[in-house]
Amino acid sequence: MHEKLFTPGPTEVRTELLQQLSTAQIHHRTKEFSIIYDDIQKNLRKLLFTDNPVLLFSSSSTGAMEAAVTNGVKKRCLNFVNGAFSDRWHQITKKNGIACDKIEISWDQAVKPELVEQKLQTGAYDAITVVLNETSTGLMNPIKKIGEVVKKFDDVLFLVDAVSGMAGTEIRVDDWGIDMCLAGVQKAFALPAGLTVASVSEKLLKRAETVDSKSYYFNLPLLYKYHQRSQTRTTPAGPQIFALQKQLDYIVNEEGIKNRFERHQKMAEYVQNWALEYFDIYAEEGYWSNTVTCIENNRGINVDRLISQLVEQYNVRIANGYGDLKNKAFRVGHMGDLTLVDIKGLLSVIEDILSL
Ligand SMILES: *Cc1c(COP(=O)(O)O)cnc(C)c1O
Repeated sequence: MHEKLFTPGPTEVRTELLQQLSTAQIHHRTKEFSIIYDDIQKNLRKLLFTDNPVLLFSSSSTGAMEAAVTNGVKKRCLNFVNGAFSDRWHQITKKNGIACDKIEISWDQAVKPELVEQKLQTGAYDAITVVLNETSTGLMNPIKKIGEVVKKFDDVLFLVDAVSGMAGTEIRVDDWGIDMCLAGVQKAFALPAGLTVASVSEKLLKRAETVDSKSYYFNLPLLYKYHQRSQTRTTPAGPQIFALQKQLDYIVNEEGIKNRFERHQKMAEYVQNWALEYFDIYAEEGYWSNTVTCIENNRGINVDRLISQLVEQYNVRIANGYGDLKNKAFRVGHMGDLTLVDIKGLLSVIEDILSL
């Protein structure tokens, strides 16, 4: 029996989208493929409010995170770390031998624009990495305000991991000055994993031309060259591309981008109010995520037991706290194509199980 996913990725995928995966293969050097590519491109630009090209990576998000730093950093990178995924980005930067520093703040606190300004004023950095939505803590960083700061520094690139936010919360790539905005499709896009999308600015592409990137697979200038022909450079994850095309058409033309964001907002508010009534919320107030809530286990419940009871009795799955927060918190994903009805159902069975 299928378990319905309320995990913060991978997320529940609608049957119609699963069916798209079994579309007969087409060759990726054909006109037919380019038509699909262009259609995806048009809708991704609408979703991200950008004129920048949006490249497709046949990898999970981590690959695009690696591409961002290997192509975008010439001098030194500053990794802002306030959760597991922003920490991963620092590890990726280090592992690739790129000059970098990390600035770590408490995981329940947001990255504040003032801190970014203070660090950039040193003149030491030509790129920063920030995670939009820390999936490990349910915290959303103020990317728009950070972008306003980064704009004051002409030579600094703003690299943003938007993995669990994109397609669930508003991101205005051009207005906010984001040079690379990346996301795997297995989170708020509600698609099977295996594909990542990333907008890249002209400034980043120019920088990439001058950086001696050691990566062959994740070379942005080469990826961009094929993008200009409405193709991917290497054989793409075909099934996911068929599904992405259909889902983007649904998001843009059926549900509507604004309605989609409002639906996420409503689900988030419902979960947040519920969490405050029975537990507490881990992240500092004012920065709660629109797509995942990390609920502090201040009642000392057995989180693993709750998860298995939800699976065994109701065929639904939520997530334990991430890393150090295991058992000290649990996470409810409210992203993708889930609805308020789904969320109300989930929370009411949690109430039953825990006799709240
Ligand atoms: C899930 C996630 C990742 C890692 O994604 P993969 O697709 O597994 O590589 C990175 N950053 C954030 C914020 C995530 O939620």
